[in-house]
Amino acid sequence: MRVLGIEGTAWCASAALYDAETDSVLIESDPYEPDSGGIHPREAAEHMSEAVPEVVDAVLTAAEEAHGPDAVDAVAFSKGPGLGPCLRTVGTAARALAGTLDVPLVGVNHMVAHLEIGRHRSGFENPVCLNASGANAHLLGHHDGRYRVLGETMDAGVGNAIDKFTRHVGWDHPGGPKVEAAAAEAAAERDPDADLVDLPYVVKGMDFSFSGISSAANHAYDDGVPVGEICLSLQEHAFAMLTEVSERALSLTGADELVLGGGVAQNDRLREMLGTMCAARGADFHAPEPRFLRDNAGMIAVLGAKMAAAGDTVSIPDSAIDPDFRPDQVPVTWREGDAS
Ligand code: ATP
Repeated sequence: MRVLGIEGTAWCASAALYDAETDSVLIESDPYEPDSGGIHPREAAEHMSEAVPEVVDAVLTAAEEAHGPDAVDAVAFSKGPGLGPCLRTVGTAARALAGTLDVPLVGVNHMVAHLEIGRHRSGFENPVCLNASGANAHLLGHHDGRYRVLGETMDAGVGNAIDKFTRHVGWDHPGGPKVEAAAAEAAAERDPDADLVDLPYVVKGMDFSFSGISSAANHAYDDGVPVGEICLSLQEHAFAMLTEVSERALSLTGADELVLGGGVAQNDRLREMLGTMCAARGADFHAPEPRFLRDNAGMIAVLGAKMAAAGDTVSIPDSAIDPDFRPDQVPVTWREGDAS
C-alpha cells in the first residue's frame, strides 16, 4: 500500500508518500518562517494555502513517475489538533485529492502520529510515549483500545514555553535550537558545580507546568543574568521535569519502552537525559531521526497506512477537521492483537 499524507497543523506545510512494502518515506516540506516574533495564525494560514498545493504536487509527481497513475492507494491528512484555518486548508486539499484519485480518505490525529512514528521506527510493542512538541507536552500509554493521557502540561507546551523566552530576548523563531546552542556554549565554559539560575520546577503527579518557567526566565534576563546561563537553566529545569514524569509513567504502567516525539525531541540534551534515565531502570529508549520529530507528513502517511489497512477511513461528510482533537479521543483500530 502507498499512502500520500498531508500535514499542516500550524507552521509546516508538508506532503509525503509512504510505501508500506518497502517501508520508505519521501517527505517534501515548506515551513512558514515569520519575519519577526512567533507564529502569526493569519500568516501561517496564508502560507499553508500557498505551500500545501506545491508540496502535494511535488510528492504526487514523484509518486506517479515512479509507480504510474495508480501510485496512491489512500490519502491521509492531519485532522487536528492545530490552528483551525491551517487545518481547513489541509482538509480541503485532502478531500479534493482523494476525490480526484478516487481513493479512500484517512483522518489522522497529529499527536497520535507523533507517537506512532516512534513506535513504527523502533519496533517497540507497547511503549509509553513522551510528546515534547511546540504546542503540546504529554505522556501517552495504550490501554484497552485507546491512547490514555497519563500526564500533560497544565498550561503551555514545552516548545512554546522556550519560544516565549526567546521572543523576549529578541531571537528569531524557532527559539529551541538557539537555546540549545547557547546552553551548550555556557555549559562548556562554566564551572560544572556552579548553581543553576533558580527557575520554577512544577510537577504534580504526572502533570507539569511550564508557564512560570518562561516568566521567571524573562525576569532573570531583565535582571542582567547572562543569557547562556538562563538557556542552560531553562533546559535543565524543563527537561528534568519531563524526565521525572516519564520515569513515573514507566514505573506506574510497568512499561519498559519509551519513545520520544515532537519538535523539542530534536534537542540532544533532552534525549541524553531520557536515555540516561531509561538505561538506569533497564528500559529501552528511542527517538526517531529529526525529519520525523518536527511536524512532517511522513508520520501522517505512516499512521494513515496503518489506519487504512485496518479499514479506518472516513467519508467526506465525516472528515471535518477538529482543532481540539485530543489523542485519547481516537479509537486505536490498527493495533489489533497488540499488548494492551
Ligand atoms: P505540535 O506538534 O504540538 O502541534 P508544533 O506544531 O509547534 O507543535 P513541532 O514541530 O512539534 O511543532 O515543534 C516545534 C517546536 O520545537 C518549536 O517550539 C521549536 O522551538 C522546538 N524546537 C525545535 N528544535 C529544537 C531544539 N533543538 N531544542 C529545543 N526545542 C526545539
